[in-house]
Amino acid sequence: MATPKKTKIKPISSDDSHLLQLLYTILVIAILSLVFFVFNAVNTRGQTNVLYNYSKELFEISNDVGKKPVYIENNWVFVPNIQRNQIRFNSSVESFKSKYPYADHVSINKNGWSNLGENAQWYGIDDELKFIEFNSNGIKTISGAYMTTLRYGSEISNLYLDLGAINGHAFIYCNGHFVGEAGDMTHYAIIPNYNGAHNATSIQSGGGKIELLILCYSSNAISSPGLLSIPTLLPPEYNTFFATLPTSWLAIIITLTIIAILAGYNLKHTFKDSRVYTFFVLTIISLILYYIIDNSFLIMDSITKTAGKLIFFIASAAFSYCFVAFLFRNKNSKLKKVDCIIISCIGIAFIALSLLDPRLLSTPYNKACTIIYVSIIAATNVAKVLFLHLDSKNAIFGSCASVTMFFTFYAMLSETNLLVNVSLYSIFYFLSLLSIIWFFINRYVSQYSELVRASTHLKVAIEQKTAHISEINRDLVNTNKKLLSNEEARKNVMSNVSHDLRTPITAIRGYAELLLKGGSAMSEDQKNSYLNNILKRSQQMERIVSDIVEISKMEASNFEFNFMDISLNELLDELYMLYSADLPATKKLTLSIPEDDLMIVKADPKRINRVFENLISNSINYTKEEALIEIKVWRENADKPLNDQEIHITISDNGIGIPPEEIERIFDRFYRAKNSGQNIKGTGLGLAIVKMIIDNHNAKISVESEIGIGTTFHIVMKPSY
Ligand code: ADP
Repeated sequence: MATPKKTKIKPISSDDSHLLQLLYTILVIAILSLVFFVFNAVNTRGQTNVLYNYSKELFEISNDVGKKPVYIENNWVFVPNIQRNQIRFNSSVESFKSKYPYADHVSINKNGWSNLGENAQWYGIDDELKFIEFNSNGIKTISGAYMTTLRYGSEISNLYLDLGAINGHAFIYCNGHFVGEAGDMTHYAIIPNYNGAHNATSIQSGGGKIELLILCYSSNAISSPGLLSIPTLLPPEYNTFFATLPTSWLAIIITLTIIAILAGYNLKHTFKDSRVYTFFVLTIISLILYYIIDNSFLIMDSITKTAGKLIFFIASAAFSYCFVAFLFRNKNSKLKKVDCIIISCIGIAFIALSLLDPRLLSTPYNKACTIIYVSIIAATNVAKVLFLHLDSKNAIFGSCASVTMFFTFYAMLSETNLLVNVSLYSIFYFLSLLSIIWFFINRYVSQYSELVRASTHLKVAIEQKTAHISEINRDLVNTNKKLLSNEEARKNVMSNVSHDLRTPITAIRGYAELLLKGGSAMSEDQKNSYLNNILKRSQQMERIVSDIVEISKMEASNFEFNFMDISLNELLDELYMLYSADLPATKKLTLSIPEDDLMIVKADPKRINRVFENLISNSINYTKEEALIEIKVWRENADKPLNDQEIHITISDNGIGIPPEEIERIFDRFYRAKNSGQNIKGTGLGLAIVKMIIDNHNAKISVESEIGIGTTFHIVMKPSY
């Protein structure tokens, strides 16, 4: 069976994972910074790109106003404390300027009218401007009107005035006509069904001139009342696009959020701590709610909006902290819980304080506290991942998540002046959700393929093991059979041995009795013949007994062979002389041996002698009258290094042969082939002794035989010279 390749999974070493984590974190920072710069370049209202005619006190707009957005940042006139009932059909900028205190060269920025810009010049009021507070349905309200005049060459219809972010509610008048409203919802709004996410109103020109008046009502509790973004004139196609984009974008991120929540719910049980999922869901839901409120998808008044934004901002920060904290399973879990509880309590206290006194909402301290709170959270998260959990398996994920949170919160705090109402932080949010989904898909796909690979491995391993077990089983069955038949053979041979021992004993006794009875009447020749027989029989008995003794000696654990360098050449020569002298005339023994090679091997001389004696005497015993027994010795690979050389000895005869099915058993103890015959006396122990000796000499013995043709025993030994 083909063995499957073992593919080892290279474990990621700690150094590798640190480097990988650093690289991933740098990559995330680079991507987020790139997004940050590209976003600011594309989606920010630019500087004033129209000329202000100081002598005529109006903007002169070229004809390309209908083709691209026009930003009107500076040179506004601002009249505080104006109310709707003070605006008449024919009231112009000039008429307001003549009646009320005002400021000109006002610029519009994220601070609303609390900071009218460094060029602003007040008229008709000496003291610091005081806004007159009035009560509007329980909310202390202040108001102010931004005014400007625009003139352009040719008639342009269908222009849109896009106000962007407003703290409060704005009523827009064009050439003295009310044309629309924008901003936060209040009880004094006229038309409630405007698009809160796109504060734009269609304006019409009158004789090449547009007199714009933007009247803002704002809560006194808001620190930056009025317009926060640079008012922009949009051509119609821009307006349609800018109106639909925020809603489509919201649909996209809500869809992605739902996918992440549902997918996460299914994967929850595979997390070590399912609270990670809970905090993840709470973080993204808080972020989404913040986004919806911040971008006026839900229309509400400024105070509710500011409070809502604060609540969900703090909530998302605190939940994100808990998310990262629970992402890492720290042994010191008590500490993990304690810091989460502290962070959450500070957040709750902060929200509670701000809600108890809404004036706190708009103080600069509130903003500073928010920044400090979020910075501490983001910095702790990044530091924790980088310094405490470098070896965690979630480290890469954790550091990337922390860095993204840092960027997201920073973008949430610093956002103003967007051209289209699609926030930078929502893009960060979108990217991080995408990467989280990608991360998990990737993780589970690789785990799945790992599982498939492992199960294939397992299948092959099981198949292999099963095959191995059945092999062992087969061997066991064979061994059992062998044992049974060995036992049978042993019993047979034991009875043979006892029979063999009894036969010479009976013969010896018979001859001894004959000698005793015959006495002096017996001839000398007869006596000698009887005594010779007694001698032969006792020698036979001795052989049987000594074979059994030999085997049991060699089996003893303390038996030691007496190894030394001996010459096979000399040993076989002596044996040859010995056996050829006693051979009957019809049998012939030959020895072929190289004359110039002593064939030195490491061996126990007595035991190795026994091997060859046994094999030669078997060849003599198991041949018929006419026999040719050949002993051959040669050195194989004589030209190669000693290690590769071998000495081969074969003892072959042309005798009765061994039946093929019995060849493998002839080295078994007490085993005698069926054709060995009763006439040839043997014990079946000789070859067993031979095998034991050969095995202990680190040599090999094999046999080839054919019935009626002959048998060859082949021994291979290692030369020591
Ligand atoms: P035994 O005392 O019977 O010779 P051995 O262990 O020496 O016992 O041999 C085991 C059996 O192997 C023999 O009984 C015989 O059947 C067979 N055998 C051994 N050598 C030869 C040979 N040269 N030719 C044929 N059969 C042989």
